[in-house]
Amino acid sequence: MRLVLLGAPGSGKGTQATRLKDHLQVPHISTGDLLRAEVAAGSALGVQAREIMARGDLVSDDILLGMLEARFARPDTRNGFILDGYPRNLAQAAALDDLLLRLGQPMDAAVKLQVDTELLVDRIAGRAKAEGRADDNPESVRKRLNIYTEQTAPVIEFYRQHGQLTVVDGVGSLDEVFTRIIEAIAPATEIG
Ligand code: AMP
Repeated sequence: MRLVLLGAPGSGKGTQATRLKDHLQVPHISTGDLLRAEVAAGSALGVQAREIMARGDLVSDDILLGMLEARFARPDTRNGFILDGYPRNLAQAAALDDLLLRLGQPMDAAVKLQVDTELLVDRIAGRAKAEGRADDNPESVRKRLNIYTEQTAPVIEFYRQHGQLTVVDGVGSLDEVFTRIIEAIAPATEIG
């Protein structure tokens, strides 16, 4: 099962992906987590990405694509993956499509978690307290939500036009949203 989770920062993609990976028995690939690991390791890439991430800006498309290619080359993605945090713009969506085509592993489904903006801000504020992420300060949060509206929302249309999109209500308990996602991807699970 190759699944991409879409939705604004704070919409619950990471939380649901953690749950879904056990259910679907495929790895959770979060580009934010991959980047944070590079930052923590102090790699050349991490040094480059650190400031950009703290500001809430997007790291370059080339870096992201290289990172994803390397991740997809690992054998644990043989039976699929749950992608979270990528694509963030239309260029990334097209690059991912090309890459998966080249690998002969097209995306099975795209799920968008729908959450109102007000609730997103509350959720991110809660996460800032719990996790202390460098980019969960008010200025970066505003920037990330703006980037989402301007650059990432068109990606939703991309998957809609490809007939792969299901929109799921992301408001509710972890269990409720999880069940909705499972129901939404059921047709793709049967095919794949
Ligand atoms: P996330 O954990 O998905 O919210 O990502 C945290 C930060 O990592 C983002 O605000 C960006 O700075 C960077 N990042 C993650 N994924 C991407 C991506 N697909 N393209 C560019 N930057 C990204």
